[in-house]
Amino acid sequence: MLENDSYLSYMNLDEHLSELKQRAEESSVNAFAPYSDFIIGAALLMKSGNIYTGCNVEFSDYLALHAEVNAIGTAINSGENDIQAVVVFSKSSPPVLPCGSCRQKLSEFAQLNNHDIQVIAFNDKQEQIEFLLSELLPGAKIQVNKK
Ligand SMILES: [Zn+2]
Repeated sequence: MLENDSYLSYMNLDEHLSELKQRAEESSVNAFAPYSDFIIGAALLMKSGNIYTGCNVEFSDYLALHAEVNAIGTAINSGENDIQAVVVFSKSSPPVLPCGSCRQKLSEFAQLNNHDIQVIAFNDKQEQIEFLLSELLPGAKIQVNKK
């Protein structure tokens, strides 16, 4: 199990939520989804307070770069990996949560930093749902023994 003790203890998510939602929705405008027309934007809140965003990007082989992964890549490229919260915007009802693959990828950083990640999904219909990542992907801890 992940430790929840330090989870967001040093920052109030509510202070950041409106900006996170705005940035996620803004990022969705840049989504490149010519095959599905399924537009997603994601925003990550880092321990530093910085926010990194990503949109989905589709390719002709139908392997897409999901918005959450795009945002993770931007965070890593900026030298940060301590993800506190992920906010996902879609136009779907109910709001779209991170897929299984994205949950796994987020979980790796939750484990690395030894705390849970808040997951918030919302849409343009005033609907919002919230979970902890550990609720969406229980038993996720993977022990890899390096030689
Ligand atoms: Zn995904």
